Amino acid sequence: MANVAFIGLGNMGGGMAANLAKAGHQVRAFDLSEAALTKAEERGCSRVSDAAAAVEGADAVITMLPAGKHVAEVFRSAVFGKAPTSAILIDCSTIDVDTARTVEVEAQAAGYTMVDAPVSGGIAAAEGGTLTFMVGGTDDGFERARPYLEQMGKAVIHAGGAGAGQAAKICNNMLLGATMVATCETFALAQKLGLDLQTFFDISSKASGQSWSMTSYCPVPGVGPETPADRGYQGGFATALMLKDLKLAAEAARAAGAYTPMGGEAEELYQRFADRGGAGLDFSAIIKMIDDSWTP
Ligand code: NAD
Repeated sequence: MANVAFIGLGNMGGGMAANLAKAGHQVRAFDLSEAALTKAEERGCSRVSDAAAAVEGADAVITMLPAGKHVAEVFRSAVFGKAPTSAILIDCSTIDVDTARTVEVEAQAAGYTMVDAPVSGGIAAAEGGTLTFMVGGTDDGFERARPYLEQMGKAVIHAGGAGAGQAAKICNNMLLGATMVATCETFALAQKLGLDLQTFFDISSKASGQSWSMTSYCPVPGVGPETPADRGYQGGFATALMLKDLKLAAEAARAAGAYTPMGGEAEELYQRFADRGGAGLDFSAIIKMIDDSWTP
């Protein structure tokens, strides 16, 4: 078993670090939050006083932090030159593609192999070890990261070179945001046209309009499989996180010169919904804003 440094023990990182400890690794855990550290210790990790102490003698360094600025800061100040160069560096946070690429280039210059490995799946998947990892980096980096990722997830996919994991994650979530908005407005129209919504679901989920947002994550309570809509839009994937990913997609599109009108429209609508108090609700709750007359 290996020495793993785990930095960032929040909603996602807490469960991921616990799963590595459960698998038998020696996990040296660090977070700025005292409460997160205490919880990690209760779940089989050893708490350390700072990030540099966590990476001492590590075989793998894993981070699960809020955004690109945190990732760049932690790697520059506490990992490069402090972790052994034999350690595989794995950033699982969702961050902008540019920062992911820059930090990976810096890692390489400092003698390390690093991959970006953002996840699909929320807190329940982090707890249950059923995340999907999208990995950017070299073949060698992917193969070295894979055994650790497999202990935290159900699927580990090599997306391409440095930053490709982040690129795949934001492209996927831009599509998800846009199809969810389209699904919501479609149901609102179907209702106004007098269609029975379960009947419309049965038709559209088998017809050419179907998408994951419609078929597996229907925003209408009582229609289709059980989803956050059936739990008052609690749990699931928070609007605030969808908005974060849509902003990352817009930023990446600007940098790449890509025209993404539907992604842009989805970002604007999710921003409006978050401003009106929807930030903590599941992202399918945007149906409440799209059709004000909706009474879920
Ligand atoms: P979170 O805010 O719960 O956790 C982040 C943790 O990082 C916090 O505990 C914070 O104290 C810690 N932290 C911040 N700066 C630090 C530093 N310099 N050193 C050490 N610790 C530091 O966030 P989360 O929900 O766990 O999300 C983490 C990442 O995973 C984000 O990039 C998010 O977009 C992504 N993600 C989240 C979900 C989800 O459902 N929550 C799903 C997929 C991806």
